[in-house]
Amino acid sequence: MNQPFAPLASTATAAPVVTRVETVILDLPTIRPHKLSVATMNGQVLMLVRVHCSDGIVGVGEGTTIGGLAYGGESPESMKTNIDTWFAPVMIGQDATRVQSLMARIGRMVRENRFAKSAVETALLDAHGRRIGLPVSELLGGRRRDRLPVAWTLASGDTARDIAEAERMLDLRRHRVFKLKIGARPLREDIAHVAAIGQALGDRASLRVDVNMAWSEGDAAFGMAALADAGCELVEQPVASSAAMGRLVRRFPIALMADESLTGPESAFEIARVQGADVFAVKLEQSGGAFNALRVAAIADAAGIGLYGGTMLEGAVGTVISAHAFSTFAKLQWGTELFGPLLLTEDILAERLDYSDFELTVPGGPGLGLSLDEDRVAFFTRDGLRKTISLPQGKV
Ligand SMILES: [Mg+2]
Repeated sequence: MNQPFAPLASTATAAPVVTRVETVILDLPTIRPHKLSVATMNGQVLMLVRVHCSDGIVGVGEGTTIGGLAYGGESPESMKTNIDTWFAPVMIGQDATRVQSLMARIGRMVRENRFAKSAVETALLDAHGRRIGLPVSELLGGRRRDRLPVAWTLASGDTARDIAEAERMLDLRRHRVFKLKIGARPLREDIAHVAAIGQALGDRASLRVDVNMAWSEGDAAFGMAALADAGCELVEQPVASSAAMGRLVRRFPIALMADESLTGPESAFEIARVQGADVFAVKLEQSGGAFNALRVAAIADAAGIGLYGGTMLEGAVGTVISAHAFSTFAKLQWGTELFGPLLLTEDILAERLDYSDFELTVPGGPGLGLSLDEDRVAFFTRDGLRKTISLPQGKV
């Protein structure tokens, strides 16, 4: 008999639900100390979250910060605690296939915690992509490119060593855009450091700097003029204040990029409203996940602000969810800096990522398109205390 209004529940298969949320902390060694104005990293700490579903699918996500708590209010350890204690109870038993709906549910129970939300959303997207056999980029609207240009950060703190490192990257055809971390030393020393590297590399490479908010507005006014003369094409977050960024923008023939002040769609809208940047460094964790990063990119496009795919120095999982999101951006005028996995001496993937000809290939398999080497994950899982962060010299 024809029953056009039969209740759906009688025919629909029950959707898979979240059954378990598992978190671990990994301590991974890095190839060299990474010196920032806020901290020196002698290793990287990752929080991995696995979301287990009732259909047997497991998705993985990553939460990573720059310098522990030196960069912002979340650390890998706080993410682990908060996911275990506050996120997991809200997720267990919920439909695992409705990622945005489940993230909204978490958002009603958990304020802030953007990095932890990004990690959990990544794991849900990975699981759902695996379930339906599509790469995460297709769940985010569809990729427009398979390869992303990748800049490299020179942050050894030593001019000669940075030049040698840049030469090696050019020879390997791995990077030809270099970002210099400055701001920890006196301004004139920093400018001389940038100028020396610019002179050594000439037109074989592009140079950018990241001050990580270390300058006053007065320092920045002097510094940006001098950096333009030194051939630098972009300065990233020279000052903390968005108002000061707004006063500095377009005063100098050098692009100004917002990074730390960009913390998701609301701040993106506010910066766009006051025309406080030429470029946005979009970071998935800072934005609160891939969907929010897409919203930030849409605001930038509408405001005529350029886009750059930023990193929190994530390992492979955090890097690849970023790559999936950036591959869908309508415009990506300034490329990306998705080099985090290359800073680590040890890979936790069964198959390495493809970095070649100055670009990263966005994986094409279902979900994130990655498989973890579980033995390596187990080896690097924290067991006791490890010290991987130290304060910059001279700072207490
Ligand atoms: Mg930055």
